[in-house]
Amino acid sequence: MDTTAARNRLVDDLVASGAVERPTTEAALRAVPRHRFVPTERRAAAYEDRPLPIGNDQTISAPHIVGRMLDLLALEPGDRVLEIGTGCGYHAAVTAEVVGAEHVYSIEYDPELAERARDRLADLGYDIHLRVGDGRMGWPEHAPFDAVYLTCAPADPPGALIEQTRPAGVVVGPFGRNQQVLCRLHPTPGGHEREEIVPVRFVPMRPR
Ligand code: SAH
Repeated sequence: MDTTAARNRLVDDLVASGAVERPTTEAALRAVPRHRFVPTERRAAAYEDRPLPIGNDQTISAPHIVGRMLDLLALEPGDRVLEIGTGCGYHAAVTAEVVGAEHVYSIEYDPELAERARDRLADLGYDIHLRVGDGRMGWPEHAPFDAVYLTCAPADPPGALIEQTRPAGVVVGPFGRNQQVLCRLHPTPGGHEREEIVPVRFVPMRPR
């Protein structure tokens, strides 16, 4: 398979359908070799626009979701970003293409997935800060963040994540117990405003 051609075809489709709008998001999706993040037996499907299993009951998000979330964050180079749910590391790598790997912080609950993501990201040259733990507590040592996003769904937005976002920053993630909605949150003094984007289905945040 010519992976570069397949990837460019996929991104062409995402741009044509309006799923991806920002040029920096488009460039990031063209740059990251998604096939390197999925299990070998899934590589043939790496450039289809759908989630794929990555082991340990988890999935890599569909490319249109990664692109949409990145558009919603409206990042600039050098912005400091916190990701909750590293998984295979793909989404973090796409974010790193926009802000620079040294500005990406990612927390993964599952130690095995974290270890595999660490090796893979290092192999590909993405020097992202990774940590094993419960992302709902955030990463206070590196706060405040310009942007925070979640790739697993809690019932409600964790307060610590909003507190660790700078005042004009944003939090993007899926929230809800049975039905989830992808939302963009804007911190306000003492709370946040919530913008509902689209119904989605992500893996639930652990522990439930
Ligand atoms: N961004 C990932 C998507 C992984 S799926 C990728 O590109 O592959 C969501 C991930 O969130 C899973 O790996 C899951 O283990 C992780 N997760 C679930 N609950 C979590 C929590 N409380 N803190 C951090 N990560 C969590």
